[in-house]
Amino acid sequence: MNSILVRKYNQPVPRYTSYPTVPFWKEQIGIEEWRQAFKAKFEEQNHTNGISLYIHLPFCESLCTYCGCNKKITTNHKVEDEYLLAIEKEWVIYRRLMKQMPVIRELHLGGGTPTFFSPRNLQRLLSFILKSSIIHPRHEFSIEGHPNNTTKEHLKMLYNVGFRRISYGVQDNDPEVQRIINRIQPFENVKRATEMARSIGFTSVNFDLIYGLPLQTPESIERTINQTIELRPDRIAFYSYAHVPWTSKAQRLFDESHLPSAEDKISLYLKGKELLVKNGYVDIGMDHFALTNDELYKAWKEGRLHRNFMGYTTTSTKFLLGLGVSSISDTGSAFAQNDKTLHDYYASVAENKLPIKKGYFLSEEDEVFRRYILDIICKGEVSFEEAHLPLLEQYTFPILAELEKDELIVWDKYGLNVTPQGHNFLRNICSAFDLYLQRSAKDNKNLFSKAI
Ligand code: SF4
Repeated sequence: MNSILVRKYNQPVPRYTSYPTVPFWKEQIGIEEWRQAFKAKFEEQNHTNGISLYIHLPFCESLCTYCGCNKKITTNHKVEDEYLLAIEKEWVIYRRLMKQMPVIRELHLGGGTPTFFSPRNLQRLLSFILKSSIIHPRHEFSIEGHPNNTTKEHLKMLYNVGFRRISYGVQDNDPEVQRIINRIQPFENVKRATEMARSIGFTSVNFDLIYGLPLQTPESIERTINQTIELRPDRIAFYSYAHVPWTSKAQRLFDESHLPSAEDKISLYLKGKELLVKNGYVDIGMDHFALTNDELYKAWKEGRLHRNFMGYTTTSTKFLLGLGVSSISDTGSAFAQNDKTLHDYYASVAENKLPIKKGYFLSEEDEVFRRYILDIICKGEVSFEEAHLPLLEQYTFPILAELEKDELIVWDKYGLNVTPQGHNFLRNICSAFDLYLQRSAKDNKNLFSKAI
């Protein structure tokens, strides 16, 4: 990989889990308008591909200081009951908007720490949702597990409900790095949790790793990756640490002098990527790597990938319902994000109201440019629509000319193909189609993290 280009394109750019991206959404949307958009798209999508469901479970027992997720730190497990009651209420409110039984194609439990909840409580939640749904015959159910508290009982229960994928937050195996990020997680725990999932029958294990954390060195990253390769997870997400202390207050606990410099961070990334690729992991794009036997790789090869707030997905659903505090729903033509604090979330559902905080209704132009961005991320190619040539000429083509000079793409006025080199810079290529970013007079430096 060309390190000069890595330096040149290491700019603040979105990860494009949505378009328009969240900073450009409206602070308030009309609930009635959202209900209508939800109903119309649900009817259309449910019987074609089924729907995706994301449930946010926000509690964690201790604070990892790098964390940018919506979470609530507590060791009091009595909170589980109140939260599950609220999710069940929210599901009932949405169920009233659905004329047909929902067909659940994809279900993901994310957090926070979903395995903070007891197996019995998770089972209660899943039974409540699934008893009034149809499970798609080719469903994909997955969960984010913490290696420290995922138990055999969790895994057995989830397996019996139909879960086959688990994603473990590993981040870094080095004890010094773990100490400074306040995530003490011995490698033995990661090994035990991985082997337990496999022995129970989980067919896809993902590890999340992070580069750019305080005290990381090329040697420590190498050790973490080599230990990871030993366990052979089917997928690896190798994320860049986003240092955004103005939004993630816990990051203020770091002494910034412990963070690697921009140059060192690039070296950590290049080292990690080189090791992964050398050991049989294929770079799918946008920080994701997969072994060739994994469904993510197969879907990428066959042009079946999709991307939403859960990251890359291998199912073809275009309708995502997010339940729980801060969750995001995506009907394909509208986004809505739930209340971000537990207090507001509980208050809304107690009044039988949809707990929506902000969102966005896409215009026709948004839908077309969203498709361009998704095609680049998921397929590495895109065809342009003639009707949008004036906009493309104004905002996009000048950037494409520059990207072509660096051999990241080949293009003409009919469309674009990403080159093998360009595959490393998908976020930058997508940003050429982000009309909000291009038109925005805002200081984008503080809106998004750098590509590396
Ligand atoms: S990184 Fe995960 S476990 Fe740690 S505080 Fe954030 S959500 Fe909780």
